Amino acid sequence: MAKAQPLLQVENLVKHFPITKGMLVSKQVGAVRAVDGISFAISPGETLALVGESGCGKSTTGKLVLRLIEATSGSIIFAGRDIRVLNRHELRELRREMQIIFQDPYGSLNPRMTVGSIIAEPLLIHKTAAGKNLDQMVSRLLEQVGLDPRYAKRYPQEFSGGQRQRVGIARALALNPKLIVCDEPVSALDVSIQAQVVNLLQDLQAEFGLAYLFISHDLSLVRLIAHRVAVMYLGKVVELAGQEQLYTKPLHPYTQALLSAIPVPDPKIEMKPILLRGDVPSPLNPPSGCRFHTRCPYVMDICRTVEPDFTTVANGHVVACHLVGQPGV
Ligand code: SF4
Repeated sequence: MAKAQPLLQVENLVKHFPITKGMLVSKQVGAVRAVDGISFAISPGETLALVGESGCGKSTTGKLVLRLIEATSGSIIFAGRDIRVLNRHELRELRREMQIIFQDPYGSLNPRMTVGSIIAEPLLIHKTAAGKNLDQMVSRLLEQVGLDPRYAKRYPQEFSGGQRQRVGIARALALNPKLIVCDEPVSALDVSIQAQVVNLLQDLQAEFGLAYLFISHDLSLVRLIAHRVAVMYLGKVVELAGQEQLYTKPLHPYTQALLSAIPVPDPKIEMKPILLRGDVPSPLNPPSGCRFHTRCPYVMDICRTVEPDFTTVANGHVVACHLVGQPGV
């Protein structure tokens, strides 16, 4: 059977933020290499999680995919179109199909607008509905995210964090998107509420065939929602695999360290804690060779000078590490 075309295909994506110096004539003196040549694809109805520590480039990747910021190089093909070459009008049209849910349900909703107007805003901007039809659509969206349609007249500050995030999800759903970038969508919520919002995202995915790029630092949470997981370190993807494969047979020492730090009540995947040395180096001047070599417990001479290529170890499981492929690994 022919494989379905990916909905989103990202190839060699790079984002360097220039550092400039000088008051009158500014000169570039360096660059923060936030995203440094990453590739991945997402199929319709699939959840790909991007995980890694704070500052690894995962949120920047989410913004690049939606073209909220411009990439330095690389390609982003969404539904067969290269979004980097679209003009403003074309991009606006395409944005109907690509939405975002932000991390902070407290700061991402305008406190001066009612919840109904917040959800209606994208429908009005894209001239999708008006009048009574608009009210009906807002009511339906509130119901879809488990909120009472009568809440449309209330203001965000009258709601809890979980309810506000549901409003953010309703707004993202308004234009029937195919892809939603979920940027740490539950990390500001209480643990008890997190599962409810994750369940809602899963139900909506099943109902509408949504694809998610799910950005998170929380590997326990990602295990619940992701079909595949890409692990990022200092602007690079270091391992990408199906969820089951990654959690039961992580091969990159960084993935192993991240997983060893979370309590997992499953003896099959119990691991000895791996303590990482030092801090994450600066993306202004990342280490040569393998970027992880300054912290890796298995570092070898080659790691300091030669950047490891990706090795495919199983169907859909790729790892960038010199150890992989060696006898016994
Ligand atoms: Fe560690 Fe070397 Fe593998 Fe990098 S390439 S993760 S330094 S063993």
